[in-house]
Amino acid sequence: MPKRQRRLISIVSLLLVVGFLVTSLTSFFVSRASLRTQIAQSELPLTSDNIYSEIQRDLLQPIFISSLMATDTFVRDWVLHGEQDESHMVRYLQDIRTRYRTVTSFFVSDRTSLYYHADGILKKVSPTEPRDVWYYRVRQMKDDYEINVDPDLANRDTMTIFINYRVQDYDGKFIGATGVGLTVSAVKKLIENYQERYNRRIYFVDKDGIIRLHGRQFPDKTENIHEMPGLKRIADEVLAQPAGVFVYRADGKTIHLHTRYIEEFKWTLLVEQEEDRAVRSIFHILLINLTICGIVIVVTLTLTNLTIASYQRTIEQMATTDKLTGAYNRRALDVLFQEAVLHAERTKEELSTVLVDIDRFKRVNDRFGHAAGDLVLQHIVKTMAAHIRASDVLCRWGGEEFLILLKGCSLEQALKMAEKLRMEVERFTEPYEGNEIKITISLGVAQYRPGENEDSLLRRADQALYKAKRNGRNRVEKEDGEAGGETG
Ligand code: GH3
Ligand code: MG
Ligand code: MG
Repeated sequence: MPKRQRRLISIVSLLLVVGFLVTSLTSFFVSRASLRTQIAQSELPLTSDNIYSEIQRDLLQPIFISSLMATDTFVRDWVLHGEQDESHMVRYLQDIRTRYRTVTSFFVSDRTSLYYHADGILKKVSPTEPRDVWYYRVRQMKDDYEINVDPDLANRDTMTIFINYRVQDYDGKFIGATGVGLTVSAVKKLIENYQERYNRRIYFVDKDGIIRLHGRQFPDKTENIHEMPGLKRIADEVLAQPAGVFVYRADGKTIHLHTRYIEEFKWTLLVEQEEDRAVRSIFHILLINLTICGIVIVVTLTLTNLTIASYQRTIEQMATTDKLTGAYNRRALDVLFQEAVLHAERTKEELSTVLVDIDRFKRVNDRFGHAAGDLVLQHIVKTMAAHIRASDVLCRWGGEEFLILLKGCSLEQALKMAEKLRMEVERFTEPYEGNEIKITISLGVAQYRPGENEDSLLRRADQALYKAKRNGRNRVEKEDGEAGGETG
């Protein structure tokens, strides 16, 4: 491939590659940025809002019920009147449980330490019993209530979310704790539902970062966000803010995090989304784009290359061949002659040349016209080309003169070949507009003598041709000074 062509191909490839890369990568990065914005500013906050409102629906109602129980005049009066008939309290708790469809309902009296629930008296709470720690905490608590997740003794120790509400008498003195409980599984189901539907990870942590609630498939046995990979680095910041948007990396994945402090729980809701899943799809599009670009580049370059190569060939051919007959032109002969000479000297092979001139060609032109003459020229070249070897060289030397280089041919062999060509041409008639053009050629043969130049060889061939013309045309003559019979 010529240098200029290579440079053109390189420039075209470079332009295509750079152009396609820039557009594909730009669109990838722009899409990724907008995807990130979308996750951080709309998807995660929306999920968080939805979960919050569903939790309000699911959990705030029990808080409200517990608050009603704590301020219920029946409850307070019954306690203040000395907890006379336990069946009254049990019926009240039963009624609450059925009406609001809670898992449990309870009242713990501070005076008697009795734990009442919907099915009767469960037990007596004691400061030394670890299971009752919650009660003594609520007793000291400044807030009106707390939400606590504990196993429920009254319900075969199912994990239960308790709303523990302080009950005070009309003077504000603490007289017990009341509230309802609902199974953790209800909230867990909610979380799971969201996790599955939106591919988010959802969990709650308390003010110390302890994970209080999470769906199934939560990683290993991490209990605190201060222990979670990636997240631990920003855990304090997450807990300090009432709401926030964060990004962290864990296990080679980019995770977007939205947090929201839920006052009623005193817990923070964390909603997470893995970025890579979404980015993977636009990365996939990038790969498809690049593949298409690659194909376009290859096809373009192949077509360019083929086109250039074909032009190149045409130009080369135009420079070295004769347009009318397709034989080599004189310019090509100079090179081919040198080549043949070098080859002959290297291999010590003989090299002969035949100079051909059409007899009385002027008459053909005069009688039938120039176009007929052209046809004859073409036909003669075709005939001669069919009889020489592929390695031999046929050149249009002048208007109706041809030069043939016969490689590996002695004078004798060249004379035979020349005679054959003469006969072949003599045999043929060119049909032209109802006429039959008959044509003959005269040929002069000379053999290359080591060390001589092109002019010297051709002069002898020309002399031989002149002799053939002079001796009556339609014949072969060989150069002077060599033995060999004349033909014709
Ligand atoms: P001879 O060689 O036998 O002595 O006679 P001639 O008529 O062939 O002699 P001459 O060399 O004088 O004529 C050559 C003629 O060939 C003259 C020219 O018009 C014709 N000729 C040369 N090139 C072309 C060509 O490309 N096409 C056609 N049709 N004729 C050509
Ligand atoms: Mg001539
Ligand atoms: Mg002639």
